[in-house]
Amino acid sequence: MQRKIIHVDMDAFYASVEQRDFPEYRGRPLVVGGSPDKRGVVATASYEARRFGIRSAMSSRRAAQLCPEVLFVLPRFDVYKRVSRAIRAIFARYTDLIEPLSLDEAYLDVTVDKRGIGSALDIARQIKADIKNELGLTASAGVSINKFVAKIASDLQKPDGLTFIGPSRVTAFMEQLPVEKFYGVGKVTAEKMKGMNLFTGADLKNLSEQEMLERFGKVGRFYYHVVRGIDDRTVQPHRTLKSMAVEDTFLKDLTHLEDLELELHKLCLKLASRLQNQPLTGRTVTLKIKFGDFSQMTRTQSMKIGICNTDQIWTIALDLLRLAGLNERPVRLLGVSLSNFSKMPNNTNLFSPPEQLRLF
Ligand SMILES: [Mg+2]
Repeated sequence: MQRKIIHVDMDAFYASVEQRDFPEYRGRPLVVGGSPDKRGVVATASYEARRFGIRSAMSSRRAAQLCPEVLFVLPRFDVYKRVSRAIRAIFARYTDLIEPLSLDEAYLDVTVDKRGIGSALDIARQIKADIKNELGLTASAGVSINKFVAKIASDLQKPDGLTFIGPSRVTAFMEQLPVEKFYGVGKVTAEKMKGMNLFTGADLKNLSEQEMLERFGKVGRFYYHVVRGIDDRTVQPHRTLKSMAVEDTFLKDLTHLEDLELELHKLCLKLASRLQNQPLTGRTVTLKIKFGDFSQMTRTQSMKIGICNTDQIWTIALDLLRLAGLNERPVRLLGVSLSNFSKMPNNTNLFSPPEQLRLF
């Protein structure tokens, strides 16, 4: 049976909540996270700030260079979490199959039309309207037959977008899609693909499954299927998490420890923010280092108590990095993961205090 999947993604979530709650912030370039003394990292930039080129995970210093009048606001995670719960309650009116990806993003499987609305597109329209009317915020939604296409679609007409890629359009849509728009293709893989004269889904389709596997590893096999409109991953409401990992391949190999520490902090921030919608703490931190010659090293540290916020993960990951004895050896990729999870007791504050980059 053909599935109906919606991917909903709030527009500039943290920044939009701030602009909703404080009228004086509206229409102004604003950044949540980081701080006026130019330390820390941007968590979310308002659309006004994005016009200056400011993006998530950028250093505050860079943001202030791009737009000197940008306003830095401390995050209010308790508020974002409350809003996130309200958004999920809206989703639950329309489906029981909800898979949250973060505070502001979720997949919904609406194959079973719980309210008898008639079409997935109309369900998405109604969800967006409920969010706007009840919470004063805008969301963008992508509607299609699988997670992969729905997720790409939700990003196409942001903000306040609604993009429907029906079953008959999936093949053509995937064929015209530039490789850098493929979800999960990072900048490095995209460059590699272009170097092989692979610019669009249609180009990828010329390669056999074996060739995709040889050139891009396991993810190559996944892309082999998604360019053909095949993505059987189900929407999983109660996924039990074994580990959560983030990694980044650098455009140029890094040799200086300070550069690596900065990148590592960004990864810890990303990891902690992904954990924010899970009532979990992890006891094991693993650092992965891949070198310029593609050899790899991992370092692991386990603790007696579970951790979940950026500072806690950062403290341990930084130790692991400093003790790895890199000696300016060129590093191509850094990754950090948290595993060995336990459920958090109720009423524990899931969030760390305002995220700040502590410069060593
Ligand atoms: Mg979002």
